[in-house]
Amino acid sequence: MTGVTACATMTNMSETITRHQTQSAAHIELTEGYAAHNYHPLRVVLAKGEGAWVTDVEGNRYLDCLAGYSALNFGHGHPRLLARAHQQIDTLTLTSRAFYNDQLGPFARDLAALTGKEMILPMNSGAEAVETAIKVSRKWGYLTKGVPESQATIVAMEGNFHGRTTTIVSFSTDPDATKDYAPFTPGFRLVPYGDIEALRSAIDDTTVAVLLEPIQGEGGVIIPPEGFLQDVRTLCNSTNTLMVADEIQSGLARTGKTFACDHEDVVPDIYVLGKALGGGLYPVSAIAADVDVLGVITPGTHGSTFGGNPLAAAIGHEVVAMLQTGEFQERAASLGAYLADGLQSMVGSGFEAVRTRGLWAGIDIDPAIATGRHVTEALLGHGVLAKEAHGQTVRLAPPLVATEEDLDVLVGAFRAVITTLA
Ligand SMILES: *Cc1c(COP(=O)(O)O)cnc(C)c1O
Repeated sequence: MTGVTACATMTNMSETITRHQTQSAAHIELTEGYAAHNYHPLRVVLAKGEGAWVTDVEGNRYLDCLAGYSALNFGHGHPRLLARAHQQIDTLTLTSRAFYNDQLGPFARDLAALTGKEMILPMNSGAEAVETAIKVSRKWGYLTKGVPESQATIVAMEGNFHGRTTTIVSFSTDPDATKDYAPFTPGFRLVPYGDIEALRSAIDDTTVAVLLEPIQGEGGVIIPPEGFLQDVRTLCNSTNTLMVADEIQSGLARTGKTFACDHEDVVPDIYVLGKALGGGLYPVSAIAADVDVLGVITPGTHGSTFGGNPLAAAIGHEVVAMLQTGEFQERAASLGAYLADGLQSMVGSGFEAVRTRGLWAGIDIDPAIATGRHVTEALLGHGVLAKEAHGQTVRLAPPLVATEEDLDVLVGAFRAVITTLA
């Protein structure tokens, strides 16, 4: 009897594994066959997520250390966000801005308060928010600064990542982002990230804005030299130029403070927000600024069918409420210090350098050992999902709901991978 049962169980198990592996391969084949190849995913097919952990179609669990490039700061399916979204999806989802809805006002008021600004302009994707900041800056330049018609310039930083529209890639320095997409939008100048003297030289009477990430996320979690953000603020003040901070990836608690600019007590003229603003449930983005800047926008001059819709506003409002307590900022700071300790021990034996701010790390892998891609592939085998940034850099951004035990898993996986590859 026992033997028969054991035998049947074994057969079932092997059938299960075979079927699931087939499923996984089938999903990859379907995706590669019918969806354009604009990404190069790791070979894992995810089916479920909860908190900091995800499960693939074969039932394997992984610690999600990419967290949707920081869109999942609150983890997968945070109960508060799910409850608010379910409630709103059953009530009212889309009105268009042709009418008012009862969700946008409270969201706008509280997001404005969180940023310390007077107004917001809601959009959907991060790139749309960046586009909005560009348009607002130019319009402010013509109407307020007195820049001659069509002459406005914006200074951006080398190594930037601000999204994928044709205008935004016009000032990208990443050849993958620009090749064969010309002609590009004029009106942008580039300076090396962190070089205040180059920035000073690039600003003239036509300059309406300096656009920067306070930490370059896609660039490899690059932290500018101490004092740079303050110097940019001072320079923008003295030249009557808007300081535009793209906090889409760095903002909303990731670095241990609400905004990465807070680390230097700097307040930009325009905050650009996205990713975590949608709680990982929905695309929600916005810019925040005072009335002397955002007031240049008048009816019919900018818009989006989905921007500020009631579902987005409800989710965004809950995100803002969760950030108001400071709990997630504190978690990011303390967990980040814990993670930094674990990672620093591998500098010199597998890692060339580790940069951290809050629960956000860029790890430069020793090229003698492996590429960033090889390391992320090996981490997958140890139950950790991460993504290489540029070439040798692995970027870590675990959900802020992760525990110290989760981070032990992450550091342990890294140690195992480094030991195997070295
Ligand atoms: C992700 C990102 C964007 C673009 O956001 P999308 O939602 O992908 O359009 C812009 N800026 C920064 C800093 C980002 O990390």
